[in-house]
Amino acid sequence: MAPGPDLDPGTLRFCPLCGGGLERRVVPPDDREHPVCAGCSFVFYLHPKLVAGTVPVRGGRVLLTRRAIEPSRGLWTFPGGYVDWGEDVREAARRETREEVGLDLDLDGLLGVYSYRGAPVVIVVFRARVPEGAEAVANASEVLETAYFHPDEIPWEELAFPSTREALLDWSAGPGLRAGRDPAGDGGAGV
Ligand SMILES: [Zn+2]
Repeated sequence: MAPGPDLDPGTLRFCPLCGGGLERRVVPPDDREHPVCAGCSFVFYLHPKLVAGTVPVRGGRVLLTRRAIEPSRGLWTFPGGYVDWGEDVREAARRETREEVGLDLDLDGLLGVYSYRGAPVVIVVFRARVPEGAEAVANASEVLETAYFHPDEIPWEELAFPSTREALLDWSAGPGLRAGRDPAGDGGAGV
């Protein structure tokens, strides 16, 4: 459970191109400090990593996964993972969903982009439709189990990440979701 060292602009030490030492230099045009290689002058701009995920829905219920790996092992989230270099973000969302729950889904628009000050990732979440008859199969190396939840049934106290909660709140407040079941309800969606 002990976290290892994190990649951030303060912990970078060596140039990934030539192996030379990095030093902090003010770099134009924004005149802010960045790590710069003393050998080959490579500027090591460090940007947040991009995560893509889906909120798969069938009959007004969302398919969630219980994580088999750290961080947040045993807690619930939705399918998602890192976008590969050069990969389309939408394709990454579909690929991660295929890998984690065995479903090849059509995306149904952008649900939201979740970004936090100081966080090393930005999370892009798409809505997705689960066709009738399609069965989710948890990939045991990543997912302990899968289950569908109506907004009233989501385990709000056992969610893996702040972005999980925020995206599920956005989904549960979405247009038309409650039309079939709870037209007047407001499932306590306040943060
Ligand atoms: Zn270098």
